[in-house]
Amino acid sequence: MTGETALSLALGTSLQGLGPAALAAAPAPSRPSGNGPSATGSWADLQALRTDGARLNAALQTLGRIGALPGGGISRPAYSDADREARAWTLEHMAAAGLETSIDAAGNLVGRRSGSDGALAPLMIGSHIDSVPQGGIYDGPVGSLAAIEVALRLQEEGVALRHPLEVYVFANEEAGKTGSRALAGEINDAELALPSATAATLREGIASIGGDPDRLSDVLRAPGSAAGYLELHIEQGGVLEQQGIPIGVVEGIVGIRRWNVRVEGMANHAGTTPMPVRRDALVAAARWIDAVHRIALEMPGRHVATVGRIEAIPGAPNVIPGEVRLSLEIRDLDMARIDELFERFRAAGETIGEGSGTQFSWQPFYLSRSALMTDGLENAVEAAAASLGLTSLRMPSGAGHDAQSIARFAPAGMIFIPSRDGISHSPDEYSSPEHIAQGADVLLQSLLTVDRTSP
Ligand SMILES: [Zn+2]
Repeated sequence: MTGETALSLALGTSLQGLGPAALAAAPAPSRPSGNGPSATGSWADLQALRTDGARLNAALQTLGRIGALPGGGISRPAYSDADREARAWTLEHMAAAGLETSIDAAGNLVGRRSGSDGALAPLMIGSHIDSVPQGGIYDGPVGSLAAIEVALRLQEEGVALRHPLEVYVFANEEAGKTGSRALAGEINDAELALPSATAATLREGIASIGGDPDRLSDVLRAPGSAAGYLELHIEQGGVLEQQGIPIGVVEGIVGIRRWNVRVEGMANHAGTTPMPVRRDALVAAARWIDAVHRIALEMPGRHVATVGRIEAIPGAPNVIPGEVRLSLEIRDLDMARIDELFERFRAAGETIGEGSGTQFSWQPFYLSRSALMTDGLENAVEAAAASLGLTSLRMPSGAGHDAQSIARFAPAGMIFIPSRDGISHSPDEYSSPEHIAQGADVLLQSLLTVDRTSP
């Protein structure tokens, strides 16, 4: 277990062990009167609340026209003109849902709604609306607009949550999770000076959307400063669709380690060097790539391992390759599992090297630690899905999300809905209006449960 996951679990202690049965048996929240026009009072009434799926899907299509590409999809990278236009539209949409809106120093759009117990830390819901270049309209906007729809339904029904509610539309998720990582205190001056795809520097990008890069410490959230965070997102993979399950309960966001791998043999003349004496680095590399695939496949678990880049040197048809450079990437929820796989891959490389007169070496160059979601929030999402008659599946997220940053300081949970053909980061990305509405209802119901059960 990583330090970070230990932290997120410790923060979530108050929600640990609350299974669906325990949640159902928890006492009803106090329902203040006078906080809304039509507050009705009972937990049963709250459990009957639904989002307006048609309205949510219409908003999604409207937002999807900002930065739209002629052939479908959108290009709306953070800090671009399209991003600024989409943010302006979204901020108005938040205000129309009765939220008190602001832009924080990191450029996040924030919409607040007060709770009935002023002593409680806020509950957060949200996602992002920036896209990759040539992306789809669902990755991010589904969760952002569903969060606003949830706030609007609470407003319409006059429901006062116990906790204050904060709707976050995080800035620049796709190119570095800048907005959410700022809340976790992970953006330093060196990163601010880096160029972004759409601005000279990250600092300029943040300033261009109404943030203040010199005051990022203002948005820093201490552990315990939020009671919980829930994010609805498209799966971006094909597991839910293949299994015919409408709701994914995310267990965590996988950790990633990457290495540069070097195989050294001996370059020599491809015509005059007999086969038995060759020390062909590319042949050794090929055997090792196959071994990586086989070992990963044979070891039980949901890890993935990939050799995604290869370069043979000198790279000529008439020269035996003397050196090969490869990349290795391993992902899993459990960082120790990643290390265990790597040791097996390394051992395989050493064996192949001995048998082929080549030498393998490994240089780590990238690390992203996994972030576990909190048991209590996973249980709340699962119970919400069940109460709506929807089957659900506990699963890891292979892609990074803002929830990963928030899990550093608050209990976090994520809801996935199916992606057609498992496609995302593409104009072909699609999730059905029905699945989107179901996901929004699960978000609403799990928020109500967490509000009821969380201190
Ligand atoms: Zn996303």
